[in-house]
Amino acid sequence: MRFASLGSGSEGNGLVVEAGGTCIMIDCGFGVRETAMRLARLGLLPDSLAAILVTHEHADHVGGVPAFAARHGIPVWATFGTLMAVAGHFAAMDHVFGFDSHDVFAIGALEIRPFPVPHDAREPVQFVIADGAWRLGVLTDLGASTRCVEWSLSGCDALVLECNHDLDLLADSDYPYALKKRIAGRFGHLHNEASADLLTRIDTSKLQHIVAAHLSKQNNTPDKARSALAAALVCAPAWIGVAEQDMGFGWRQLI
Ligand SMILES: [Zn+2]
Ligand SMILES: [Zn+2]
Repeated sequence: MRFASLGSGSEGNGLVVEAGGTCIMIDCGFGVRETAMRLARLGLLPDSLAAILVTHEHADHVGGVPAFAARHGIPVWATFGTLMAVAGHFAAMDHVFGFDSHDVFAIGALEIRPFPVPHDAREPVQFVIADGAWRLGVLTDLGASTRCVEWSLSGCDALVLECNHDLDLLADSDYPYALKKRIAGRFGHLHNEASADLLTRIDTSKLQHIVAAHLSKQNNTPDKARSALAAALVCAPAWIGVAEQDMGFGWRQLI
């Protein structure tokens, strides 16, 4: 199994996972041409995608999905709640599939295990993707961890984990009070220490890769995210990857 990012953050997200000849994309927050360009950077053609999974209806995750999926005839999978929230955008498309936030399903060689997360969307989920040998856990866009989140991510071989903000930087920022409250709230985004704390409550003994993701440009720095996660894992900060808004991150292989 290998995985890579097209970009990560509030301006757009996209993650690709490939194993056993099946390649899927999780979320697409970029325009049609931009997405094709970012896929090409990873050596992928749009036609090589077997599906697009959607985590929730916020524009940085679903904004690019309808046009890109329609253009290239790619099936889309989203929770029933997400589909309800974006109903108009997918109405004209044939291959749109709904699932419940606890349904396990397969796309080609990949097993898709969604799990619900607290976030201010209709039925937001994140995913564990497995191919029989390896498990990749993907977790962004949640305000707080839950036992279900930790149970889902425990024992994964690779993690892409939200480190949205540093609490002090957010508190000192010039964001309006209501926005600060939303971001730091239970249905907002995970801060560095909360992500680090999550790592201490799950089995990380198999981890081959960990990448901090969905970093705020204004209220976080790659170094702060790295050092928080490294402290929790008792490893060198340089071992922690950081997904960038523009470049995402290159292929990471599980072996
Ligand atoms: Zn987001
Ligand atoms: Zn969101």
